[in-house]
Amino acid sequence: MPIDFSFTEEQNLLRDSVRTMLDRIATPEYIRRCDQEPRYPTELYEAFVELGLLSMPFPESVGGLGGGVIDFAIIAEELGRKSYDFLGAYGTCVFNGLNILHNGTDAQRQHWLPRLMDGRIKMSISMTEPGAGSDAGAMRTSARLDGDQWIINGQKVFSTGAGADRNVINLYARSRPDGPHQQALSLFLVDKDTPGITLRKLDTLGRRALGTYEIFFDDVRVPADRLVGEAHKGWSYMLSGLQLERLMTAAGYVGGAQAAVDLALAYAKERKQFGKPIGTFQSIAHLLADMQTAVEASRALLWRAAWQLERGEDALMAISQAKLFGSEAYANIANQGMQIMGGYGYIMEFDMQRHYRDARVTTITAGTSQMQRNLIAGLMGLKTK
Ligand SMILES: Cc1cc2nc3c(=O)[nH]c(=O)nc-3n(C[C@H](O)[C@H](O)[C@H](O)COP(=O)(O)OP(=O)(O)OC[C@H]3O[C@@H](n4cnc5c(N)ncnc54)[C@H](O)[C@@H]3O)c2cc1C
Repeated sequence: MPIDFSFTEEQNLLRDSVRTMLDRIATPEYIRRCDQEPRYPTELYEAFVELGLLSMPFPESVGGLGGGVIDFAIIAEELGRKSYDFLGAYGTCVFNGLNILHNGTDAQRQHWLPRLMDGRIKMSISMTEPGAGSDAGAMRTSARLDGDQWIINGQKVFSTGAGADRNVINLYARSRPDGPHQQALSLFLVDKDTPGITLRKLDTLGRRALGTYEIFFDDVRVPADRLVGEAHKGWSYMLSGLQLERLMTAAGYVGGAQAAVDLALAYAKERKQFGKPIGTFQSIAHLLADMQTAVEASRALLWRAAWQLERGEDALMAISQAKLFGSEAYANIANQGMQIMGGYGYIMEFDMQRHYRDARVTTITAGTSQMQRNLIAGLMGLKTK
């Protein structure tokens, strides 16, 4: 019996306990408040710590609970069901922490990971710059060694959650002025309140609770031990970290898309026109059938990718496919959900518009759909420009 689609008893328990905690704290009113004020989901973050969710994916050797990639994906799907922002608050800390686990020094693992797991610090990631989006290797923010300190100058953009309390920015910068980016970038851990840093929160259509920030670095001095792993190896650290980031996003899209289908389905059963629930009109029923099918297809791609990654196999193709398909499915489903809800979908008191706004950016963040297709085509032996 080579294929097994079931979860272990522990994994089912994990899912149930995350769901119970979320139902208690992340009520529809709470989600709306975080989106509309907007405000950081502090109470929820504290619950992540209390429930051990931040420790879950880390090995026992560093004080974690020894969970794996599949556990991480289970948590991510459940958080995504409530709000992509809630997943961002959790997942960005975890995938940056796992990057330190895999690429940092022993001293860095011992110093940073306990602080991350017990909630003393948070982590954000800064790769993107005004002139370096999809072409991340074109980044120009510089890091120059001066005695036992690095001096950082430049500008980053779209750094999600960078302004959160006690945040540590996982900053990629050019540590060699010349040469190919594959051998010229380094990864630094920089406290967001370090002198010389200015943060500006950008006004966005969706994902408003965490916010995404522009960051200016003006002669920012960072001690040498804030360089993760070895100098000039940042590009490979970034690529390995991105696999987990994309898996996390794909799991969040499945959760978000399922929540949007659930909302649309409940509405279609309730709302009557021409004397009948609108869900009995074949055009609406078939739309919902297609929406649920797209969620299941996204979910199947997600679990295959998580399974491959957990087994230590090369999961790049599967992760890219799960990210590509899942993001486009979520964006389409939220759009279709708006259609099913008619004029009410467009009203801020109903939650479909938040899915519509949050889902819209999923085909842009964590590698655009075009870049995922380039990558997949490349793995199929096709060179694209
Ligand atoms: C809400 C939000 C949160 C974000 N969070 C973070 C974060 O926390 N940290 C971080 O570092 N970044 C973050 N980003 C940045 C995000 O990853 C980038 O926006 C994304 O990589 C695209 O870069 P860009 O916006 O500069 O678009 P560009 O790269 O300028 O792309 C513009 C268009 O051209 C297309 N394009 C570009 N190159 C090619 C090509 N070779 N082939 C085909 N089409 C191409 C793109 O697909 C896109 O359609 C965030 C962005 C947003 C909007």
